[in-house]
Amino acid sequence: MQPTMKPHLLEPDFESLNQWLLDHAQPAFRAGQVRKWFFEKRASGFDAMTDLPRTVREGLAADFEFWTTRIVRHQQASDGTEKLLLQLADGGRIECVLLRDGARRSICISSQVGCAMGCVFCASGLDGVDRNLTAGEIVEQMLRLQQLLPPDERLSHIVVMGMGEPLANLKHVLAALDAASSRSGLGISARRITISTVGLPEAMDRLTQTRPRYHLAVSLHAPNDALRNELVPVNRRIGIGRVIAAADRYFEASGRRLTFEYVLLADINDRPEHARQLASLLRGRPALLNVIPYNPVPGLPYRTPSSAAIQQFREILELAGLVVQFRQRKGDEIAAACGQLRRVTAQPAS
Ligand code: SAH
Repeated sequence: MQPTMKPHLLEPDFESLNQWLLDHAQPAFRAGQVRKWFFEKRASGFDAMTDLPRTVREGLAADFEFWTTRIVRHQQASDGTEKLLLQLADGGRIECVLLRDGARRSICISSQVGCAMGCVFCASGLDGVDRNLTAGEIVEQMLRLQQLLPPDERLSHIVVMGMGEPLANLKHVLAALDAASSRSGLGISARRITISTVGLPEAMDRLTQTRPRYHLAVSLHAPNDALRNELVPVNRRIGIGRVIAAADRYFEASGRRLTFEYVLLADINDRPEHARQLASLLRGRPALLNVIPYNPVPGLPYRTPSSAAIQQFREILELAGLVVQFRQRKGDEIAAACGQLRRVTAQPAS
């Protein structure tokens, strides 16, 4: 199937919509009305936009796609986590998640179909990358998830930690996040938006130069290059030193505390010497270390460490004075770790 040929209304630059309004002799303020309908009033189609003349609604419906994805699966876990598997117009599939935690309503969104980074323990990259998502497709995930909330609840946080490497699709990710953080968009403060990267120094520097207002999380996963080269293959042409230097430059420009992520894999990167090396690597940085016990992926040989190993790892880091957070697992029962649901439901190749 070919991607739809009609422009996508949710493309955040709104050029096509503005042009359409001009061509149809409509006042420019209609663009703001339309925007309000889908960001604030959570309309799911043009019919709902009752303050627009009927002819305008019909004209827009004829010339634009509102949704370009279809919900293939909607799963709910008992802890309040909900996950959507979305099928794109060209048949590709992506995942996005809504997490409930106290008053927080966080969403985790994807930036690419698949992933090219090849981290050995991750489900998203097992088949490589198909393509970058458009900015409209990224915004669409936000709106689809927002629609799962009752009218009196709002999305509060966004993490770009779903499928894909956001810094390999920086332009579209930033266009979508700018819409999310804009007052005429979702109005979510940039402080509550996190971009998670495998650590691509050139793209991190571009982010530093253009938009040092979001939180940056860097997926480290190993305290030395020998181990990181095995777990995160792109590291072979980069090296931890350059990743951390680029993260430091981002911190200087943004003033936002960095987060380093570390997926804990039994008997691979969870030994006391790894914790000690990690402590000396990060010591002195205003950073949070987010340790994530591995969420097993069917077919991959990696395991979650025992609680004793996790505890020991934690104590060494805390004694060394690092600010550490051990992430609670959420949504395990619905395969909420990135890329897993897509694999479970993938059609077997014929
Ligand atoms: N490409 C980006 C964002 C994607 S994933 C990045 O590398 O940061 C977000 C985080 O989840 C990354 O730290 C990733 O390594 C981690 N992750 C991937 N698969 C996982 C799994 N099965 N269990 C726990 N964490 C996982």
